[in-house]
Amino acid sequence: MPFAHGTHEKINAGIKKILIPEEKILTRVKELGEEISKDYATKNPILIGILKGSLFFLSDLMRAISVDCCVDFMSLASYSGEKSNGIVRLLLDLRESIEGRDVLIVEDIVDTGLTLSYLENILKTRNPRSLEVCSLLSKPECRKNAVKTKYVGFNIPNEFVVGYGLDLDEKYRNLPYIGVLK
Ligand code: 5GP
Repeated sequence: MPFAHGTHEKINAGIKKILIPEEKILTRVKELGEEISKDYATKNPILIGILKGSLFFLSDLMRAISVDCCVDFMSLASYSGEKSNGIVRLLLDLRESIEGRDVLIVEDIVDTGLTLSYLENILKTRNPRSLEVCSLLSKPECRKNAVKTKYVGFNIPNEFVVGYGLDLDEKYRNLPYIGVLK
């Protein structure tokens, strides 16, 4: 297969096309980091990485942010294979209090918006000073719940994507690009 990323040949075999190449992801993540650094210039935001999909996005984004910031993690589940089962469960909660803090949720992808609205409802009850969302990907045509995503890396069509942290049953996360499965 004529992929640029020859080191992942075995995994590449399951991929139909590269939707967003690695270089384009990293350029966009840097832009998001600069934008966030400007908006939070006088603040000390706490980034909340939503595991596991935001793994690489969070680590690249955090290094592109030039203001003091902290990090914590949450884990939620609603997907099995390529389908959401519509019920969101909290698997891992924050260690830190977010009362009075400027909170930035860092997500891999917003699809129906169900996960994010569940998460926002939980976090709002903990009285943060502000609550915003930064998602690497968004599928606007799939939205069922209206959610406000202040920062979005890329709007993509309604296709199931993997790579750069996103999985299918725990596979494909380690691809350096975002791809569509065969
Ligand atoms: P939502 O609740 O917005 O429908 O879905 C959010 C979660 O579903 C994401 O955090 C992600 O875990 C999963 N998800 C939604 N669309 C995709 C996709 O195209 N690929 C992968 N790998 N996960 C997805």
